Amino acid sequence: MTSPTSPTRPIVVVTGASSGIGAATARALAADGWHPVLGARRLDRIRAIADEVGGTALPLDVTDGASVDAFAQRVRDLGAVRGLVNNAGGAKGTEKVVDADEEHWRWMWESNVLGTVRVTKALLPSLIASGDGHIVTITSIAGLEVYDGGSGYTAAKHAEGALHRTLRGELLGEPVRVTEIAPGAVETEFALVRFDGDQERADKVYEGITPLTADDVAATVAFAMSRPSHVNIDTLVLKPRDQATGMRFNRR
Ligand code: NAP
Repeated sequence: MTSPTSPTRPIVVVTGASSGIGAATARALAADGWHPVLGARRLDRIRAIADEVGGTALPLDVTDGASVDAFAQRVRDLGAVRGLVNNAGGAKGTEKVVDADEEHWRWMWESNVLGTVRVTKALLPSLIASGDGHIVTITSIAGLEVYDGGSGYTAAKHAEGALHRTLRGELLGEPVRVTEIAPGAVETEFALVRFDGDQERADKVYEGITPLTADDVAATVAFAMSRPSHVNIDTLVLKPRDQATGMRFNRR
């Protein structure tokens, strides 16, 4: 990798870079010599991070096709895209199936599943043309298992994982690597968003455990993206030592 100040740094797009895992990933990749393009709806936040690490901040709402198209065009104008981290997304609610809230389902499918399809589709030709592209998708252990009250989120993350893993075969023979990162509990704004800003309820998710930090996940992304081009890390699952499954924790 070249120096972080060089204009020839390879471009990596990080979606949902205004907070949590996305913000930490933009910082970690910048430290590794990438030029991060940070996309999110909260522009003030991504601008501050871009200024800090020498990246580019661009408005992005992954649920809106026109926003994704405008974003992708501005990214392409910057140069060849070598990396894409599909990170934007999250969860809403914990209703059981019998009480399923369609608005919550729609929000989760639009951001995690269709958002990932839209951004990937828009940037894939540029990733292929770069001659050495890499797509990393942040799914979740919710994409590998199910848990009570989690159907909307686990269904969306399973779908996101399926679409991501499909790329592995479809891109065989193209110069693009494909890595899925599936974290367990990470302390970010995730629970606050899931519980509509209820801080007390969000804090309970991490009570008595030592959760992963956004930096822990970012370091894993940076590891996968810094392997030599012939090495494809397909899937990495990381959880706090205090977590066995989506539902089972060692709470002290
Ligand atoms: P977070 O702190 O809430 O960050 C979520 C990010 O997604 C924010 O930057 C948000 O930006 C962005 N986002 C949401 N909707 C968006 C949209 N429509 N368009 C563009 N950006 C959007 O949560 P996080 O934990 O870092 O979550 C990042 C990813 O990791 C998510 O896909 C989540 O499902 C996954 N994950 C999280 C955990 C966990 O325990 N925290 C575990 C496994 C997987 P704006 O609101 O500014 O647009």
